[in-house]
Amino acid sequence: MSGIRALDGVDVAGKRVLVRADLNVPVQDGRVTDTTRIDRLAATVRELAGKKARVVLLSHFGRPRGRDLKESLEPLVPAISERLGLKVAFADDCIGEPAESAVAALRDGEVLLLENLRFHKGEEKNEPDFTAALARLGDIYVDDAFSAAHRAHASISGVAGLLPAYAGRGMEAELTALDKALGNPTHPVAAIVGGAKISTKLDLLSNLVGRVDLLILGGGMANTFLAARGVAIGKSLVEAEMLDQARAIEETAKKQGCTIVLPVDALVAEQFGAGQTAETVTIENIPADRMMLDIGPASVANIEAKLKTCRTIVWNGPMGAFEIPPFDSGTVAVAKAVAALTKDGTLISIGGGGDTVAALAAAGVENDFTYISTAGGAFLEWMEGKVLPGVIPLMQ
Ligand code: AMP
Repeated sequence: MSGIRALDGVDVAGKRVLVRADLNVPVQDGRVTDTTRIDRLAATVRELAGKKARVVLLSHFGRPRGRDLKESLEPLVPAISERLGLKVAFADDCIGEPAESAVAALRDGEVLLLENLRFHKGEEKNEPDFTAALARLGDIYVDDAFSAAHRAHASISGVAGLLPAYAGRGMEAELTALDKALGNPTHPVAAIVGGAKISTKLDLLSNLVGRVDLLILGGGMANTFLAARGVAIGKSLVEAEMLDQARAIEETAKKQGCTIVLPVDALVAEQFGAGQTAETVTIENIPADRMMLDIGPASVANIEAKLKTCRTIVWNGPMGAFEIPPFDSGTVAVAKAVAALTKDGTLISIGGGGDTVAALAAAGVENDFTYISTAGGAFLEWMEGKVLPGVIPLMQ
């Protein structure tokens, strides 16, 4: 992506390269249950090691208060080493003597992981002394942790201000994908936004209406928009205090030439839970004692027809209560439609945000989108149009 300092042409041979990684991976009974983040780091580490850099990996893990070995990174070393395909040494602190002597012992092409950054409060507080202690360990800084880029922490924005700073390959891929979706997209662009509530996604919706041609809404948040239009939505989840906000977003969308697409039918049931009898009704006919828990087939067909006119889509949030079948049907059907159009080459598709990754994986399309971001909070802040403190120092 232009505008970002990438690793091309950087002479790293014999240099100590601090790589900010996100190794905050899910662990159960001492085992890493999802290696996606390690896998996405592999390209950068292998490239640097291959070019004879001395690679020093920095990461946070969990939310320890001070040094707490329950949140040590050490047990992760075998999994990291296996996924990277490289031997990984470990230092039991990220600054001071243990870190300095381990870094000094590194030879060209070797990899070292330092202990959890958050064992020191200076990390999250971005304290100058802690930042300087980290920076002393390296000659070059490489940030490959987009998922932590929304945090102005010492190992992110701090060290990047003290050393020559570059984007790692994972960071570069993420920023390139995001730029294609909202920075410099091919129009028409659609955003698909779902999930439970408007209140948690107000900034996101406000940013999107000024950037996309179509805003396709589903999930619980669509209920509030429907209610704001005067539709009787029965017992459906609604944010009564958000009706004015919903109307304001509709107004802004109209002014900006953004079309809001709401469900035209829904899957309704008596309550949110397993074993419910679900039926499909049109939006004008929602029974007073039922709640909308998913978009219906006519809504899916409508969305699919609209997507065929688009060149780019960006997606956050499920179309319904996807955890409980059959209320996953809408999300799965729309996900499959996006995947098919992406495979045909007519659509660039980017999805992301916690529940969305799970929903797209459940739909079996996680490899069929142009890019799926596992970055959670950073992805959402980027969708909100915020400039991320971890990205600024990597700009040319
Ligand atoms: P979010 O974290 O805001 O993306 O919201 C995701 C959650 O919204 C999921 O747990 C879904 O079950 C829930 N959700 C989506 N649609 C509905 C709906 N129509 N009614 C109730 N909950 C919903």
